[in-house]
Amino acid sequence: MSVTVSALTCGWLTGAASGFLDGEPGVIRVPVLSFVVEHPAGLVLFDSGLAAELAEDPAGAGRMADLFDLDFGPQDAVDRRLTAAEMCEAADISVLVNSHLHFDHCGGNALVPNARVIVQEAEWRAAHHERLVATDTYSPRLFDLGQDVQLVNGEHDVFGDGRVVCIPTPGHTPGHQSMRVRTDDGEVVLCGDACYLRRALDELHLPDFSWDPEQQLASLHALAALEAAGAQLFFGHDPAQWSSLPHAGRRPRG
Ligand SMILES: [Zn+2]
Repeated sequence: MSVTVSALTCGWLTGAASGFLDGEPGVIRVPVLSFVVEHPAGLVLFDSGLAAELAEDPAGAGRMADLFDLDFGPQDAVDRRLTAAEMCEAADISVLVNSHLHFDHCGGNALVPNARVIVQEAEWRAAHHERLVATDTYSPRLFDLGQDVQLVNGEHDVFGDGRVVCIPTPGHTPGHQSMRVRTDDGEVVLCGDACYLRRALDELHLPDFSWDPEQQLASLHALAALEAAGAQLFFGHDPAQWSSLPHAGRRPRG
């Protein structure tokens, strides 16, 4: 039985470096990532990138468009990336795991029509909070689509065989989750935004935005422990790690 992980690059964001490492000067350009896990029982997508309509109208991201410059064309939408990589059609995806519900992680949910969506219940609840919606921290129109949504609490084994397991890593947001994948070549952990960059982990250096810094620090420690036990970590937005990721299909543009 073979289980593999492949990365999709669904555009790039440029924003203040302090948003990724508190106190860091200047700006940083980071990839928007999505991952496909091929498991004999089905195809799993981890995060869905940016909403397709942002390719035509970046201002549609509301306040997020003030914080980030988007480098995102129609070809960067997750369905187009899957097809270009000759992996599958987005309609073939059977499970969509959202690490969390910020715009660069669930924007493409509408493009994955047949998937069961797995989200932590705490995240789903926060993402409907009136104040957080009013500030564009969350946009329910991106994820509250009438799809089959499975709300989970804590660790969740997607296929019941221990090979694809959602693990709570809160702090960045209330219900953030990462995903452990036991591939044929060893264990991989898709960190999502529990850890943006290798430097954040090595220096235990948080971004200037955090829903709960203490929880986020505890999640960083948990990820560090998984790495120490032999897992390979794929960070949420690390431009330095990007070129070494197992890209789906041909190497995408950087
Ligand atoms: Zn993100």
